[in-house]
Amino acid sequence: SGQKPRYKRILLKLSGEALMGTEDSGIDPKVLDRMALEIGQLIGIGVQVGLVIGGGNLFRGAALSAAGMDRVTGDHMGMLATVMNALAMRDALERSNIPALVMSAISMVGVTDHYDRRKAVRHLSAGEVVLFSAGTGNPFFTTDSAACLRAIEVQADIVLKATKVDGVYTADPMKNAQAEKYDRLSYDQVLAEKLGVMDLTAICLCRDHNMPLRVFNMNKPGALLNIVLGESEGTLIEE
Ligand code: UDP
Repeated sequence: SGQKPRYKRILLKLSGEALMGTEDSGIDPKVLDRMALEIGQLIGIGVQVGLVIGGGNLFRGAALSAAGMDRVTGDHMGMLATVMNALAMRDALERSNIPALVMSAISMVGVTDHYDRRKAVRHLSAGEVVLFSAGTGNPFFTTDSAACLRAIEVQADIVLKATKVDGVYTADPMKNAQAEKYDRLSYDQVLAEKLGVMDLTAICLCRDHNMPLRVFNMNKPGALLNIVLGESEGTLIEE
């Protein structure tokens, strides 16, 4: 097609909860297929796609810890949950004939490749979707931080964070009808106003390395492609 993308390489962050669709937990295969289709459209116009998927649909360390489990063990379970989600997404991508590779920050011989930045860049450059799983490999971090870290490492042009709402608002738009959407925010505004966009570690990383971030609604079909074609969807966070 004649569409010229604005970005050469993006890092897309999907929460684990996004994979649940209308279910209460786990993975909804219909959601995976729709995501695969949207990601395939990007690959089709020559955009390189790195993907980080959360694990909140299965396990979260903080929740397990609140229920009495050792926090580090809970975080290990959370990271393993992200590997399961990444395997399911790889499967959906490959069924749509989109080449994909799962890398993990925790070694899992025979199941995933181990994370290797140079190898990731080679596969991205070849037009494969690279799924970065197991977060950062460390407890007490989130997959938001992992997404920003990997984006900086592989020199992506932008982090695209998929959410259930149209961007960052002055208040929770699900609860407050007066809430207004920001089109643009600075890193410092997000930090100062403690806007619950992403965890602050992730925002600090992006600020320190000048990595732009766009928060958008993944439930809106075509939004991802619109962003990549340079349209203003959601909220842009930059300097
Ligand atoms: N996690 C971790 N280190 C990381 C990334 C994730 O320990 O670098 C664990 C943590 O317990 C987290 C869980 O994995 O709660 C799932 O990730 P996250 O909560 O970020 O998933 P999401 O909210 O995006 O579904």
